[in-house]
Amino acid sequence: MGKLEGKVAVVTGASKGIGASIAEHLAAEGASVVVNYASSKSAADSVVKHIQEKGGKAVAVQADVAKSEDVKRLFSETKKAYGKVDVLINNAGAYEFVPLESITTEHFHKLFNLNVLGLLQSTQEAVKLMDGRGGSIVNISSIVGPMPVGTASVYSGSKAAVDAITVSLSQELGPRKIRVNSLNPGMVATEGLSNSGFSESEFRKVIEARTPLGRIAQPEDIAKAAVFFASDDSGWVTGQTLIVAGGDRQ
Ligand code: NAP
Repeated sequence: MGKLEGKVAVVTGASKGIGASIAEHLAAEGASVVVNYASSKSAADSVVKHIQEKGGKAVAVQADVAKSEDVKRLFSETKKAYGKVDVLINNAGAYEFVPLESITTEHFHKLFNLNVLGLLQSTQEAVKLMDGRGGSIVNISSIVGPMPVGTASVYSGSKAAVDAITVSLSQELGPRKIRVNSLNPGMVATEGLSNSGFSESEFRKVIEARTPLGRIAQPEDIAKAAVFFASDDSGWVTGQTLIVAGGDRQ
C-alpha cells in the first residue's frame, strides 16, 4: 500500500518541471492528484494521462494561482472531483533574475503576486477543505531564500518570504494538525530553467563545480523529498525548511 493511499493532493504548477514530477510521485504513492496549470493544457493533460496509465488518479484544473477568483475555482473543482484536500504543494512560481536598476513594479508584482500572494491564497482555500482532519502543506521555496544571491533581490525576497510564512503558518495551523514545511531546491533541470537561459550558462557550471554531489538536480530529486513532507513519514516535522541541493552551500 502506498504512503498516500486515500489522500487528495493539489499540486500548483504541475504541468511541467518540479510540479509535474511531484504530481507523478504523489500519485504513485496512492494519492488522488489535482494537476493545476496556468496555460499549458496539453502538458497538464499528458501528466494526468501518464498518472492514469500507471493506475493512478488525477485531474487537470486550469487556474492562475496569482488570481484569487481562479484559486477559489481551483479548490471548488477539487472539492467536486475528490471532496477534500489532505496535501497542498505550493509549487507554482516565477523566477527572473534582474539587477537593482532593472527592477520594475511589474517585475516585483509578477514574482510576489505568484510566489507569495498566490501561495497564501491557495493555502487559505486548501485549509478550508482540510479542517478537522489535518493535512500537510509543502511550499516549494528555493535555496536563495536562506542563501540569497546577487541580481535576484526580488526573487530571493519572495522565497525568503515563503520561508517566513512556512514558520508562521506552522505555528498557526499546528493546533489544527496541519503541518507546513518548505523545500528549498538548488538549481533543477526544468523547462523553466531552460527558458531562463540558465541551463547552458556559466552559472550552472559554477554550481556544478561547487556542489559536493557534482550535478544540478533533476525534478525527481525534489519530488522524493516532497513525498516525505506530504506523508506521515514526516508526521512530527513542521515549520522546517529543507535545502535539497546536493550539498551546495553557496
Ligand atoms: P517551470 O518548469 O517553469 O514550470 C512552472 C509550472 O508552474 C508550470 O506548470 C506552469 O504552468 C506553472 N505556472 C506558472 N505560472 C502559474 C500561475 N500563475 N498559476 C498556476 N500555475 C502556474 O518551473 P520549475 O522550474 O519546475 O519551478 C517550480 C518551482 O520551483 C517554482 O516555485 C520555482 O521558484 C522553484 N524552484 C525552481 C528551481 C529551478 O532551478 N528550476 C530552483 C529552486 C526553486 P503553465 O505552463 O501552464 O504556465
